[in-house]
Amino acid sequence: MTTLAGSTLTAAGSPLTAALGPADPNAPHLPVNVVGLRCRACGAAAPIGPTHVCGECFGPLEVAYDDAAIAARVSRARIEAGPRSLWRYGDLLPILSEDPATRIDLGTGATPLRPAPRLAARLGLGELWLKDDTRNPTGSFKDRVVTIALSAARALGIETLACASTGNLATSVAAHAAAAGMPAYVVVPSDLEQAKIAGSAIHGARVVAVDGSYDDVNRLCAELTDVLGWGFVNINLRPFYAEGSKTIGFEIAEQLAWELPDHVVGPIASGAMFVRVHEAFAQLQRLGLVDDPRTPRFSGAQATGCSPVATAFERGTFEVVPQRPHTIARSLAIGNPADGEEALRVVAATGGAVGHVPDDEIVAAIQLLAETEGLFAETAGGVTIANLVRFARQGHVGRDERVVAIISGNGYKTLDAVVDAVGPSATIAPSLDAFTRAVG
Ligand SMILES: *Cc1c(COP(=O)(O)O)cnc(C)c1O
Ligand SMILES: [Zn+2]
Repeated sequence: MTTLAGSTLTAAGSPLTAALGPADPNAPHLPVNVVGLRCRACGAAAPIGPTHVCGECFGPLEVAYDDAAIAARVSRARIEAGPRSLWRYGDLLPILSEDPATRIDLGTGATPLRPAPRLAARLGLGELWLKDDTRNPTGSFKDRVVTIALSAARALGIETLACASTGNLATSVAAHAAAAGMPAYVVVPSDLEQAKIAGSAIHGARVVAVDGSYDDVNRLCAELTDVLGWGFVNINLRPFYAEGSKTIGFEIAEQLAWELPDHVVGPIASGAMFVRVHEAFAQLQRLGLVDDPRTPRFSGAQATGCSPVATAFERGTFEVVPQRPHTIARSLAIGNPADGEEALRVVAATGGAVGHVPDDEIVAAIQLLAETEGLFAETAGGVTIANLVRFARQGHVGRDERVVAIISGNGYKTLDAVVDAVGPSATIAPSLDAFTRAVG
């Protein structure tokens, strides 16, 4: 049994460069562009630090940028000349230190935006694209948020990385901490997929499995944040972490030649990614990087077994009532989503919807996506595609729309979910005769 007791690893104040090698001479030069933190609820300012709650009203803190300096610097050409990773959007991400050694890059981002004509035809849709975030270093979009949170942690002198996770975040934190030479503690529900537990422990992280739901894990980690000096990427580093999700939106726009889609369909767990992709498009428009002033529609995807945001949408309210999750889509199993209300506001403002699908439709959708487009997604991708199937059937997603579906995680991590549905077509003796009899 792994425990946190007796740990000697605490935070703050270490000279950054001591633990790191020499700076990469090819790293892009990124000037500091953050002026502080700001409360989303009351607007109160807070100093830059590993903190996520407003001291005035307990609202969520967000990064406050030096907007004028960024506007003066950023351009399509400057972005296009950048590295083939999410750091090409460095001007639009929270840079707390000019030292390139604060930026740990495992090759996250620059994932394909693939046309999906065969799936579109099956669903009766026109132009459908898949944002293939299965292709990140640890197989999920979480590498984006961890890259940014880790960079902030290094700049803030934090020495130990940690997280509360539904699985993918744990793996990503473990891998990034390993590459940075930092110790990591990842806290997960004990009923997680083997691939996600082993995939985290393999990097040398301490994996603490909690007998409880993700929401229990999150509550425990919030308490730990107060007593340990660690950087919990999705708790006290959340203002920085959340910004990393924006890079999905930046990439989609650049990959569509600086145009926006008409409709985005994406998964909702805490809602952070969903909200930030919407914010990314708005930011590109404000900066003049995208000319079209129209806002894409945003539709969210949940599993029926954990559908607090979809349920609020059905009831026509912004009030999200927490649920106890029970679904094979464990990466989305957050019963008390931090950004649920914000996600509903994005949906309402853009004419979107939030749907939910039962587990058997999730498995069928994983198969459909794999069979039509050669893309094997984890259960979260199944949730997105299964909801897209329903949206298409209901006419909520139109034939005339340019649609982007966000496929956020890799199917090899959730094999358990599909092994009962697919297997060998036949098991035979090694002879021509047996093959002919079995296959016909
Ligand atoms: C975490 C996760 C999500 C949802 O992220 P939120 O920002 O919490 O809504 C979606 N897909 C996968 C594969 C994830 O791991
Ligand atoms: Zn506040």
